[in-house]
Amino acid sequence: MIKPLNTYEVWFITGSQDLYGDEILKNVAKHSEEIAKALDESSSIPVRVKYKTVVKSPDEVYATLEEANTSKSCVGVIAWMHTFSPAKMWIRGLNAFRKPLVHLHTQYNQGIPWDKIDMDFMNENQSAHGDREFGFMVSRLRKQRKVIVGHWKEEKVRKALGTWSRAAAGWHVLRQTKVARIGDNMREVAVTEGDKVEAQMKFGFSVNTYGVGDLVQFINAVKDNEVDQLISEYRDSYQVADTVLKSHALKDAAKIELGLKSFLEDGGFGAYTNTFEDLHGMKQLPGIASQRMMAAGYGFGAEGDWKTAALLHASKVMEQGLAGGTSFMEDYTYHFGEERSLVLGSHMLEICPSIASGKPRCEVHPLGIGGKEDPARLVFNVDGGEAINVSLVDMGNRFRMIVNEVKAIKPEKDLPKLPVARVLWDCYPDMETAAHAWILAGGAHHTVFSKALNTQYFEDLAEMMDIELLVIDKDTSIRNFKDQIRWNEIYYHHF
Ligand code: MN
Repeated sequence: MIKPLNTYEVWFITGSQDLYGDEILKNVAKHSEEIAKALDESSSIPVRVKYKTVVKSPDEVYATLEEANTSKSCVGVIAWMHTFSPAKMWIRGLNAFRKPLVHLHTQYNQGIPWDKIDMDFMNENQSAHGDREFGFMVSRLRKQRKVIVGHWKEEKVRKALGTWSRAAAGWHVLRQTKVARIGDNMREVAVTEGDKVEAQMKFGFSVNTYGVGDLVQFINAVKDNEVDQLISEYRDSYQVADTVLKSHALKDAAKIELGLKSFLEDGGFGAYTNTFEDLHGMKQLPGIASQRMMAAGYGFGAEGDWKTAALLHASKVMEQGLAGGTSFMEDYTYHFGEERSLVLGSHMLEICPSIASGKPRCEVHPLGIGGKEDPARLVFNVDGGEAINVSLVDMGNRFRMIVNEVKAIKPEKDLPKLPVARVLWDCYPDMETAAHAWILAGGAHHTVFSKALNTQYFEDLAEMMDIELLVIDKDTSIRNFKDQIRWNEIYYHHF
């Protein structure tokens, strides 16, 4: 349901001017094409890099950036000044430009040719000051952009472009995502609520409510042979006991999954929410169904949490091809330890198997909430490794993104009586400081948990979204974090 990243393009646009004559401009174009081709072929950049043109006048800048605005495949623009490019030329185009911009501050040659360098060479290779003129204009216009500095052959430059391009693709998709809110919110819950009109203005995605009966119609239309087929898929993909394979509960769960899938496909949704308080006409709270929808790339938020659902969908677009997986998550319960304290993350059912260690077990157990029949779910552990939790909250006058860098830890104990997928993690800088900062920031109990994406992806995304980002990492101190929140309160006051 997600389009592969290589169906998206970023356009490589080089700035120059008319003063240099044909010879130099020919070289500028040739070099630009060579750089764009090398970036396009780099395995670190998953989207296509398309050399567009050398712009030399205000009209050319404007026409090219307008074309980028309306292109369906272009998710962002890489700008580079090979020579000097007087930046008043860029004002009209940049003012109209609405997609992510990265300013690649590089130059064609890597080192200075000490013996050969002359004034012709100096004339042709002016990025060091040409890019500063451009940088001034972007800053003067208060335009968001990412700056990447380094030679274009360096791997770290390509990796930074790769990260930015993944964020740009996620942002491109998010801007047109339809989120279905099946049922409303879990009653009285605050953080999953928010201003859906403001969200659509800011992020582009729409959130609209559907009665659970709209979904039930799709579930009831599922045929028995489709259910049998899906159960064989469960049998092949997971560890399933024979008693479970033959159970009514698993048939009901499979039927729910097929109904949910066709409901989402029929509506063209990229993300959805549901709530255990509104399951009229359904036998179970969707467990394995939501787990598998997430694995297929849909965003999901429990209890009406549309912000996490939308963010998860964007994350699924960004992480394609990376190892580790990404899931809906909830900080569930703590282990206070003498040396270090840990968090056990989980949910009632809905954790994405993309983060699973090994083959998940498919089981049926009672659920102590919601008053429905016993739901089927996938149960698994998660391997150790670096990870993050990301939350998006509505602070009333603005949206705030919060990231906590964590380290997943392979559980040393079996947890034989816990019938849900779970992940254990240690927080940076430590659990007590991280939880303290998270609570001060108003971070939600629901998050996007990712082992595939790190903070940089979300920093790039938050800048494209033009929203506040608070990062809790190894350098976080509570005193500084409090100041940061206070200062941000002033900074975002004018929005
Ligand atoms: Mn929850």
